[in-house]
Amino acid sequence: MRRRIFAGNWKMHKTPAESAALAKEIIAGAAGLKGRELILFPAALCALGVAELCRGSGIGVGVQNMYWEDEGAFTGEISPVMVKAAGCGYVILGHSERRHIFGENDDMVNKKLLAALKHGIAPVLCVGELLEEREHGLTESVIIRQLREGLAGAKPEDTEKLIIAYEPVWAIGTGKTATPQIAQEVHRLIRHTAAELVGQDRASRLPLLYGGSVKPENIRGLLAQDDIDGALVGGASLKADSFLAIAGAE
Ligand code: PEP
Repeated sequence: MRRRIFAGNWKMHKTPAESAALAKEIIAGAAGLKGRELILFPAALCALGVAELCRGSGIGVGVQNMYWEDEGAFTGEISPVMVKAAGCGYVILGHSERRHIFGENDDMVNKKLLAALKHGIAPVLCVGELLEEREHGLTESVIIRQLREGLAGAKPEDTEKLIIAYEPVWAIGTGKTATPQIAQEVHRLIRHTAAELVGQDRASRLPLLYGGSVKPENIRGLLAQDDIDGALVGGASLKADSFLAIAGAE
């Protein structure tokens, strides 16, 4: 039985006070959820406060990005050392907004991933194709490239904490969800490719999350698929009731 994980990516939303209020509501509501792992990704400035609130609740907290160096003259960045010291155990890497708005490439994602593994921070590696890539039949090659380059140089034995999220770029924040069948096809490809990179046994246990306009209304069909183990949720994670309805779906 693989882990069931529901992660909320709050993106650049919520002040520290608003983040704390949302975290408290989620902590209260999550008490009734059995067998589900929840991870919250507030804005970096709010992560320390949310991590303090979540301590002892069983809910994980992470950041949405980080740099790969431990410290130095890197204005505006946060380091893996800071992430850990703030009580955060997870980092989203290679989110499509980082790739397409901020110009992150596979090499940068890879350096960040290796830094996360070195520091014992669980990376949520995001992969996903653009609409044009899907329309040109390139989905498979894009996903395989992002996985191979993102995980290059990672020792399989260091990847126990790895989580992968399939987030088709055309489905993020657009209201268009991939059908469960489309999502399952890509998740199967990811598990197959991961087997080459981290070994068959680890790949069979690797949590694969779907992300892209997940809502309480569409989560069941996605979770019914063999290789979909949970969700990375953007918009619908900004309200405790919708996030908890997704996380509690059977
Ligand atoms: C995301 O940002 O990771 C995401 C999946 O967003 P949304 O759920 O809003 O599409």
